[in-house]
Amino acid sequence: MNEKSSILIVDDNSDNIRVLGTILRQHNYRVVIAQNGLQALKTLDITKVDLVLLDIMMPGIDGFETCRRIKENTDWEAIPIIFLTAKVEESEIVKGLELGAVDYITKPFNTQVLLARVKTHVQLYQYYQLLRAQACLDGLTQIANRLKFETVLVDEWHRALRMEGYLAVLMIDIDYFKALNDTYGHLAGDQVLKQVAATIDKLAKRASDFVARYGGEEFVVILPNTKLQEALLIAETIRRAIEALAIENKNTTLGQITISLGAAATIPSATMQPMQLIDKADQQLFLAKHNGRNQVQSEK
Ligand code: GH3
Ligand code: MG
Ligand code: MG
Repeated sequence: MNEKSSILIVDDNSDNIRVLGTILRQHNYRVVIAQNGLQALKTLDITKVDLVLLDIMMPGIDGFETCRRIKENTDWEAIPIIFLTAKVEESEIVKGLELGAVDYITKPFNTQVLLARVKTHVQLYQYYQLLRAQACLDGLTQIANRLKFETVLVDEWHRALRMEGYLAVLMIDIDYFKALNDTYGHLAGDQVLKQVAATIDKLAKRASDFVARYGGEEFVVILPNTKLQEALLIAETIRRAIEALAIENKNTTLGQITISLGAAATIPSATMQPMQLIDKADQQLFLAKHNGRNQVQSEK
């Protein structure tokens, strides 16, 4: 990891900030500063931070309250917080740790001890982020996995519900894939899955579009703010692009890899469940298979 790690120093005393900032910069950290708790929260909103060094006694909301607010935000809850404070009573230390801080250092501090603790927690946080990102990815295709799909679907559903906007989905299934495995072997099948995933991912190109491996040789695309007609255009573009890969599969009608797609779109309502939209697209996928494969189907 070449990028510098960022440390947010939260302290109302500018001398403390200067001393600590100098030490951290000398050890190759990027330093971000906040002079009170609310400023710290604002900073976290706009800056990626890898660790927070948090004073306790500050005007406005104190360090404990700042810690509590950081920990209750799902985007920030895993950022390590180390209290750095003149408060030395054990009850205060316990309070800080119970609020979710990873460590507690009393002032005046030993520079080497502080640096060692910062380094450890920055590293642990990096491992955590790496694992969390991996947990959302499909190992073979490196696109999002089913687990991630489920959270994104629910999030987008609720967003569309609030905005009273359209949400579209595409269910995609590779045609005669079992036969491809049987004819060319599983390794060749794996390669095809990777190519198909990359092609779909490239074509669902708006920032909010989302592609996941749904399972086996099935993929799902979530298209926020998209009407059925637009979803059908994207679906057809994807179908053609897969055809254009011209990967041999002599078991299909065309003699090469093709896909079938089912599309569905709706303006979500409170009485409907997100999975009902997926079911609709799945029924259309079934129809696409039934009608001869290598095609897009949707409700008329
Ligand atoms: P259809 O046209 O009706 O979709 O037929 P199909 O053969 O594509 O569908 P079926 O559901 O019968 O077979 C899917 C196959 O996908 C079976 C399974 O072995 C294969 N498969 C699932 N996951 C993987 C994988 O990770 N790698 C490989 N190589 N094959 C996989
Ligand atoms: Mg299938
Ligand atoms: Mg299939």
